[in-house]
Amino acid sequence: MSAIIRMEGVSFTYDGPQPKTALQGVSLSIEQGEFVAIVGRNGSGKSTLAKHFNAILTPTSGEVWVDGISTKDEASLFAIRQTVGMVFQNPDNQIVATVVEEDVAFGPENLGVPPAEIRRRIDQALAQVRMSEYALHPPHLLSGGQKQRVAIAGVLAMQPRVLVLDESTAMLDPVGRKEVMETVLRLNRAKGMTVVLITHHMDEAVQAQRVIVLDEGRVVLQGTNREVFAQGERLQALGLDVPQVTSLAKSLKQAGLDVPTDILTVEEMVSHLCRLLSKT
Ligand code: ADP
Ligand code: MG
Repeated sequence: MSAIIRMEGVSFTYDGPQPKTALQGVSLSIEQGEFVAIVGRNGSGKSTLAKHFNAILTPTSGEVWVDGISTKDEASLFAIRQTVGMVFQNPDNQIVATVVEEDVAFGPENLGVPPAEIRRRIDQALAQVRMSEYALHPPHLLSGGQKQRVAIAGVLAMQPRVLVLDESTAMLDPVGRKEVMETVLRLNRAKGMTVVLITHHMDEAVQAQRVIVLDEGRVVLQGTNREVFAQGERLQALGLDVPQVTSLAKSLKQAGLDVPTDILTVEEMVSHLCRLLSKT
């Protein structure tokens, strides 16, 4: 594996009458094909970090490389923005056209992609988010989850190598959240798309291979999903929840049942409980 995004010692301060340092000495890398979650309480610097991934912001000090190119290299801004596609929180702010497929076409049109190739990309992108049958629908009649999938299709049509989602499920109902999560998981597993998911839902973060925790602009904890979520008390001190099933595992263990305390999914819990039952 090689890093598609790498940052070294990145600090960032928002200018203004009261300057605000939002990132302090952040070093991390995102490998190609990885699914990484970034979590942290409100104001911990997640969005500021995400904006460094595609040069919407550039560091006050330190450096960010996208596919080996420094984001300070202004001549490469276009290439960087094309490599890293961003999906934001509010789907209504990201949809610009009155017909779904025109919306998906918007990005590649701006890139100067020829019409026949745009047609091919629209069809492919809508298929990837399972929205093909809505190609000719007006976006404003779609559900939140469907709109967010159209927004993802619009990014996919520009053929990025990394998909960054900044709280893109925050405004969705549970059904919409599940649709978006299924979509990004499928893109990662079936297409090898590198995914960076910023979320405050821990049940989403557990689905990533690796989790990075931010607090006050610093990386305070990172590791595999299992390593990070096994640290329940640490996470709570950082203002984060532990997935329900992980805290249940801990309670069962304390009550004397032989279950591991780093269980992450309901399926794992079920299989451990079945194993215990079959022994009795
Ligand atoms: P998160 O996404 O984790 O909630 P942000 O990156 O949005 O965190 O914000 C990090 C810190 O930077 C917060 O203290 C926030 O108030 C501040 N901040 C964010 N955007 C701006 C801005 N445009 N100007 C000044 N301060 C900002
Ligand atoms: Mg944010």
